[in-house]
Amino acid sequence: MPARAKGSSGLSPFRYSNSLTLDRQGGAAYPGGGEVPESERMTEAEWLACTDPQPMLEFLQSRVSDSKWRRFGCVCCRYVWDHLTDGSRSTVELLEQFEEGRTSSEELSAASRWASFFISNLVKDPSRGAWFLAVVGPAIGDHHLREPVRQLLREVVGNPFRSLALDHAWRTPTVTALATAAYEERHLPAGTLDADRLAILADALEDAGCTDADILSHLRGPAPHVHGCWVLDLLLGKS
Ligand SMILES: [Zn+2]
Repeated sequence: MPARAKGSSGLSPFRYSNSLTLDRQGGAAYPGGGEVPESERMTEAEWLACTDPQPMLEFLQSRVSDSKWRRFGCVCCRYVWDHLTDGSRSTVELLEQFEEGRTSSEELSAASRWASFFISNLVKDPSRGAWFLAVVGPAIGDHHLREPVRQLLREVVGNPFRSLALDHAWRTPTVTALATAAYEERHLPAGTLDADRLAILADALEDAGCTDADILSHLRGPAPHVHGCWVLDLLLGKS
């Protein structure tokens, strides 16, 4: 069974995977209808070659789920953890708990002024660019942090021009248990996932019949793996 199913939304992390798959030039069709804004046009070749995270963020802005954006914000914050205040660290932790369903938006909002900022910019309207400027913007503005942010973006969204469909035969109890453990047993405070666990998960997927080169190479690759990892999200049914 082929791993890829063009035009299938499957368990893709992207809201608009159908349109993205059909619109490989990033032009004619826009997920929300109407013409694609100039700032959001990009071809697959441009995406793959892009070294500047800013146009990638603009391209993805309305194409990625709210949950994905929130988790991307959290992993960026964890990358610059040493530069965060105790208050903003607490807010990131609360936001992660919110994503895991362990706290409510009301509890998060009442926690701190920082939380209120996150709520207004991430939870209620995460597709707006404001939070990038306020939270991740300084990192992107720093030339030395551009590459890590770009890598984290690729880690979380994969290749938005490809729509993936998971073969449910791959999701064996062993694969699910390994994926869950890899997700839950991350290294803190960096928030990175254990490379050895992901390599073992790749082996288990192969044993289950997975031959998808993108999935297997991603799990075995050196990229920083974090919550929001597009392969783990696919396996765990997170969007
Ligand atoms: Zn990953």
